Amino acid sequence: MAETLLVINAGSSSIKFKLYRAAPGGVEMLLGGALDGIGTLPRLRVKGHAGEILADQRFEPAEIPDSAAAQRCIGDWLTPHLAGHEVIGVGHRVVHGGPNYSHPVLVDDEMLRTLESFIPLAPLHQLTNLAPIRVVRERRPDLPQVACFDTAFHRGHPELADRFALPRALYDDGVRRYGFHGLSYEYVSGALRTLAPEVAAGRIVIAHLGSGASACGLLDGRSMESTMGFTALDGLPMGTRCGTLDAGVVLHLIEQKGMSAAEVGHMLYHESGLLGLSGISNDMRALIASEAQEARMAVDFFALRVAQAVASLSVTLGGLDGLVFTAGIGEHSPEIRARVVDRLQHLGMRLDADTNMAGSLRIDGAASRLPVLVVPTDEEQMIGLHTLRLLRGA
Ligand code: ADP
Repeated sequence: MAETLLVINAGSSSIKFKLYRAAPGGVEMLLGGALDGIGTLPRLRVKGHAGEILADQRFEPAEIPDSAAAQRCIGDWLTPHLAGHEVIGVGHRVVHGGPNYSHPVLVDDEMLRTLESFIPLAPLHQLTNLAPIRVVRERRPDLPQVACFDTAFHRGHPELADRFALPRALYDDGVRRYGFHGLSYEYVSGALRTLAPEVAAGRIVIAHLGSGASACGLLDGRSMESTMGFTALDGLPMGTRCGTLDAGVVLHLIEQKGMSAAEVGHMLYHESGLLGLSGISNDMRALIASEAQEARMAVDFFALRVAQAVASLSVTLGGLDGLVFTAGIGEHSPEIRARVVDRLQHLGMRLDADTNMAGSLRIDGAASRLPVLVVPTDEEQMIGLHTLRLLRGA
């Protein structure tokens, strides 16, 4: 029977899952799917390793009102498809590993309690990420489960990148710049070691531009600083999240506008970013296609902030040897890549129009002093690899 691993990436409105086969050099995907639109427009889509459609089912919102119902639905779909596979473990994306965990961990009851103690650090995400671990532990207590943290890759940050200019006691209390998207950065920097080793060994910025967005400065594959801080709200503007914000605005909304903490939280996480700026959409495709002045402004704002982040991280790195774009927008939007690089011309960056349009690995032009690359990310594969390594004791 083939040894397989299940990877679960549970978010608040969608749960992604992939099944991997343990292969000699790592892992190979057998199938992958997602149940998204939980509570709004639930839809289960699953594809096989060659992209063939294995499932595409829509549900009424009342059928899949919450994450627990989504887990049951995925479990029901997966059970017959796991026949003939020996599942040797389950890997999970867990947003927060707290101040100490710089590596994935095997989850037992005690570890689960430790991870639950980090819920106050990421109330929205941590609870959702941990829920499937509990469900699997109840149903299959024998099955090893591995938690892979979004924060882990950044734990080696120098102290300067880890602090806010706040009273020291808060730092000891866990109020630190953790940084997120670590599984993506780890995957992309690993892929870069094969695809462009001379770039991977240098001072680079990876811009993870998806519906969540951040940038990370890396030195020889190690994270030096990330634009995301204590929560996944900080840094770049995102689909619906505000990014860097004057903390005084939060005080103003509470003290002068009479908003509750929950209302402010909802605004900053769900009504801000590209959606808030444009008043039109959180989807970059819709904004690029729109003629509206508000949409153009939102796109401009996004590109400016990404370019500023790259320049700022180059100071942390003491120079820059390359820029890498990844995730939904970074991989698929030549317009955004062109706008970002256009604002970085003073650092010697130029694009080649054709390779940028094609989304090739190298998209820098002949006149560019720096390589500019597009490297697709794969967080689930990183989780699969970590899970396999941990189970095999490698
Ligand atoms: P998630 O954080 O949900 O995993 P992704 O990395 O898949 O996000 O990125 C999703 C975002 O990528 C979408 O919201 C959309 O704005 C953007 N996107 C995808 N394709 C394109 C494209 N061709 N042009 C511009 N933006 C795109």
